[in-house]
Amino acid sequence: MKRLVLWDVDGTLVRLGQASRHPFQVALTHVLGRELEEQFHERVEMSGKTDPQIARELLLLAEVAEHQVGEETAAVLEHLEAELAALADRMPEDGRVLPGVAELLGGLDADPLVVQSVLTGNLAANAAVKLGAFGLDRWLDLSIGAYGSDDADRTQLVPVARGRAAQRHGVAFPPDSVWVVGDTPADLACARAGGAHCLLVATGRFARSDLEGLGADAVLEDLSDTSMVIEILRS
Ligand SMILES: [Mg+2]
Repeated sequence: MKRLVLWDVDGTLVRLGQASRHPFQVALTHVLGRELEEQFHERVEMSGKTDPQIARELLLLAEVAEHQVGEETAAVLEHLEAELAALADRMPEDGRVLPGVAELLGGLDADPLVVQSVLTGNLAANAAVKLGAFGLDRWLDLSIGAYGSDDADRTQLVPVARGRAAQRHGVAFPPDSVWVVGDTPADLACARAGGAHCLLVATGRFARSDLEGLGADAVLEDLSDTSMVIEILRS
């Protein structure tokens, strides 16, 4: 059976530092037309959330009226996309690819029984910018991924990627052929909702002790033991 491996981006493949959070603040300031307190964006926990969900929470925190939030979320996301694209050149300086990732993506790419893409809260364009900045997109078929731009609710995203992969490859990817790899409880919830397997890694905001005991199929400190990770994802 062919496997579909769906990677989360932030905290799983790469760490971006300020480039992951600051663009939200710039976009929000622009849309609201007023200055916000410095580091306003840090009042919203972003790990594991989709970009539309983060934008909405920030707007509500900035006391935008509920009936205006939908329209303003769209405006924030539009600016976010532009801000992030403008930072692409600096991403490799501010951020880093996490241990084992390049070797792992390359290794799995050589396996004809494995198809790799992403399942991320990022808008599709933002995921492409981040992965492209680090050269990781060469091993991932981003056209079959599932993104925050497909649904603000991450738990809806496994079927989106399965559907795209099936169309592209002409074979079905049943839920138990799918692995979601992520760094937060939200990645696990999304995998569970979609009937997929889940590997969690403690390279994001959550420690291994926070991730263990949640019911993931496997929990690792990081992805550096690439032969073990490959074995897990083929199991
Ligand atoms: Mg993440």
